[in-house]
Amino acid sequence: MEPVKGGILAELPNQIGDRLRAYAPEASLPSWGIRFAASLDGILAVLSGMSNIAQMQDNLSYMKDFKPLNEEEQELIRLVQDDLNSLDRILCTSCHYCEPGCPMNIPIPKIFGAWNLYKQFNEKERAVSNYNLNCRLRNKASACIQCGQCEGACPQHLPIISLLETVAKEFEG
Ligand code: SF4
Ligand code: SF4
Repeated sequence: MEPVKGGILAELPNQIGDRLRAYAPEASLPSWGIRFAASLDGILAVLSGMSNIAQMQDNLSYMKDFKPLNEEEQELIRLVQDDLNSLDRILCTSCHYCEPGCPMNIPIPKIFGAWNLYKQFNEKERAVSNYNLNCRLRNKASACIQCGQCEGACPQHLPIISLLETVAKEFEG
């Protein structure tokens, strides 16, 4: 499940996506995640989680005559993993499962989106402005009372409470 991590791997920062495009210009970014999952030992099916016909057609273009990732491609994936880990992004998929039960009405995915903007483009002023805009009618990260509701609801098992503390320190300090 989630070979494209809720869409996160379909929208890579340019410098990272370019690594993959340089190797195979015709391959879509999601194709790398789906082929990676399908290449693992013992996998019988990959639930691609696509949301429209064009995406499904893209899936079919490389899965109907499936070729597992070769050694060179596996190495490329390892480089991209290193690139992504170095960005310090929060791997939130914006599913919003955490939000409805938050007693403090904190816009958690929007806050993490502002953080990722900061990490991806290194433009703090723009990211803080986005943060303030998204929190203007709701509460900021520092309002979290650490009840833990959101962490129990997050399918990505993100440590939301400590992540909010990090964001508050950087954006509200
Ligand atoms: S831990 Fe904080 S962000 Fe999470 S639901 Fe509770 S108050 Fe909201
Ligand atoms: S539940 Fe987790 S992945 Fe979904 S929006 Fe909330 S923090 Fe992001």
